[in-house]
Amino acid sequence: MAQEAGSLKAQLKEKEKEIAALKNKLAQLEKSHASVPELQDKVTPLSPLTTKPALSNEDIMRYSRQLLLPELGVKGQLNLSRTSVLIVGCGGLGCPLAQYLAAAGIGRLGLLDYDEVELSNLHRQVLHGEENQGQAKALSAARAVKRLNSTVECIPYHLQLSPENAVQLIQQYPNSYIYNVPTRYLVNDACVLSGKPLVSASALRMEGQLTVYNYRGSPCYRCLYPVPPPPETVTNCSDGGVLGVVPGIMGCFQALEVLKIASGQGSSCGQQLLMFDAQGFRFRSIRLRPKQADCAVCGESPSVTQLIDYEAFCGSAATDKCRKLNLLSKDQRITVQEYKSVVDNSGPHILVDVRPTVEVDICHLPFSLNIPLSSLEQRKSEDIRLLQQRIIQLKQQMADDHQPPVYVICKLGNDSQKAVQVLEKMSGSELDSITVKDVCGGLMAWATKIDPAFPQY
Ligand SMILES: [Zn+2]
Repeated sequence: MAQEAGSLKAQLKEKEKEIAALKNKLAQLEKSHASVPELQDKVTPLSPLTTKPALSNEDIMRYSRQLLLPELGVKGQLNLSRTSVLIVGCGGLGCPLAQYLAAAGIGRLGLLDYDEVELSNLHRQVLHGEENQGQAKALSAARAVKRLNSTVECIPYHLQLSPENAVQLIQQYPNSYIYNVPTRYLVNDACVLSGKPLVSASALRMEGQLTVYNYRGSPCYRCLYPVPPPPETVTNCSDGGVLGVVPGIMGCFQALEVLKIASGQGSSCGQQLLMFDAQGFRFRSIRLRPKQADCAVCGESPSVTQLIDYEAFCGSAATDKCRKLNLLSKDQRITVQEYKSVVDNSGPHILVDVRPTVEVDICHLPFSLNIPLSSLEQRKSEDIRLLQQRIIQLKQQMADDHQPPVYVICKLGNDSQKAVQVLEKMSGSELDSITVKDVCGGLMAWATKIDPAFPQY
C-alpha cells in the first residue's frame, strides 16, 4: 500500500514537471509569436494607440539617459509613447530613422516598403542582414526594430503607396517621412490633406538634404517645387551611387526632428533646408521661400483637393527601380539578343559604353570603347577625335559603303538613349556619317539575358 502510494506520488511529480515544461514552452511560443509583427498587404483601420498614464519602472530604466534631459523629461517621454510615425521606405534613410525612433520609445511605427532585401542594399540599409535577402523589407525592418525595443508597436506594410490608400494610411499616423519623386508629391499632398507634418530627407552620392514640410505654417513640397523635374534629370541611388553612411547621417537627422516634434519641443527646421556635403564636411542651412498663397494643394484656393495620378503628373514610375526612359523610336534600338548575334557573326561595328569611368572600372565588355555621356554632351575633343579615328578604321574594314554601325550601351539603357540622340546630331557634321542604335536595357540586360557571369551592380 505504502509502496503503491509512493510510486503514484513519484509519477505525479513527474507529470507535474512535464506540465510545467509544456506551460513554459507555450508561454515562450506565445511571446515570440506576439513579438513577430504580421505583414500587412493593405491598409486596415488601426485601433487607437493605448496611452500610458505613467512610465513603468522598466521604462524609467530603459530611457533613463534621455529622461535626464530637461528638453525631454517624463512629459516628453510620455508624448513619444503616444505618437505614431509612418515611415515610407525602409531603405538607407528609413533604417536609421526607424532604429532611433524605436530606441527612443515612439509608441507606434508604421513601416512601409514594397521591395525585398537585396545584397546591394546592405551597405546602407543597416537593419537588414544577409539572412534577410529576398524577404519583404518592411517585415525585415519590423523584426529588427522589435529586437531593439519590443514595447514599440510595429506595423509592417508590404504595399505600394497609391492615391487610393495614402490618405487613409497617413491619417492614422501623426508624422510621416518620404522617399522618391512621384511618392514625394503623393505623400506631400496626402500630408497636407490630412494636416500632418512631413519630415523629409534625401541622400545621393556624397550629399544629403533635410527639411520639415507643412509644419506650423511652413511651406509644403509643392510650395517649393510646383512642377516636377523632367524624369530624365532625376537620379536615384541605383544609378547615381551613394556612400552608405550619408543616408545614415540624414536618417539620423530625420529621427532627431521627428523626436523633437513628437516630444513637444518642436522642430526649428520648418522654414529651412539643411544641406550636408560629406566630401567637404560642411553643413549649410538655407532659408526656404515661405508658404505660397497660390500653392496647388496648401494655398488659398487649392486645385488639388484629393489625390491625383502622380505617375502621370511626374512622368515616371513611383518605384525607385523601374525608371525607364523612352526617348527613341523602335528602329533606333536593338535588344541584347540582337546585339549578341552581331557579335557572334563578327559584324563590323563600334560599341560605345557611355557610363562614367568609375562604372567601367567595375565591369565592361572587353571590345567596348568608353566615352562617358558627359564627354559626348560637352563635345570633349580628345574623345570625339578617338571616336572619329575608330569610325575611319571601321569604314576601311567594311566591304560595302554602308554607314558604319555604332551601338551605344550603358548600365540600364537610359543614358545610352540620350547618347544616341547626341551622336545622331553629330553624325555627318562633327563625325563621319554613322548609324547609331541603343542597346535596350544596357549591360544589366546583358547580364540577365546573355551572360550570367557578367557582374551586376
Ligand atoms: Zn504648398
